[in-house]
Amino acid sequence: MVSRKIVLTFPKQKIDKPIVYKLIKDYDLVFNILKASITPDQEGHMVIEISGDKEQIEKGIKYLQEQGLKFEPLSKDIRVNWDKCVQCGACVSICPTGALFVKDRQTMEVSFDSEKCIACELCIRPCPPRAIEVHF
Ligand code: SF4
Ligand code: SF4
Repeated sequence: MVSRKIVLTFPKQKIDKPIVYKLIKDYDLVFNILKASITPDQEGHMVIEISGDKEQIEKGIKYLQEQGLKFEPLSKDIRVNWDKCVQCGACVSICPTGALFVKDRQTMEVSFDSEKCIACELCIRPCPPRAIEVHF
C-alpha cells in the first residue's frame, strides 16, 4: 500500500460529477480530501491523499486525467516572506482558494492561511516584490 498527495483541478462542467467516488468503487482506492474549494468562476480545486495499490493509483490518476481533470503532485510548499511584502493586495484577488486574504478591512492587511493553499502558484508572478516563495 502506498499513498500520494495530489492536487486536482476540476473544470466547471465536471464539478457535480461523482468522479472521485469512482476511484473507490472501480480502483479500490482510499482517499482523504485534505482541502477543497470552488473559485468564483466555478473551477474546483481539491487536494487529496490517495492510498492503495501502486498500479491502481496510476490507473486511477489516468482515469481522472481522461475525465478532463488537471492533476499535479503536491510537492511544493508556498510561503510568504513578510519582510519583503509591501501589502499591495495584488495576490488576494488572484488566489483561487482564499489562502491569501485581507485580514483587516480597515488596514487592508494581507494574511496567508497555508491550510487553504493548493500550491497552484498563481500568486507568484503578480507579486511585485517577489515576496511569495515556492519551497520544494
Ligand atoms: S499558491 Fe498562491 S494563489 Fe495558489 S492557492 Fe496558494 S496562496 Fe493561493
Ligand atoms: S502581492 Fe506580494 S507584496 Fe502584494 S500583498 Fe501579496 S504578498 Fe504582499
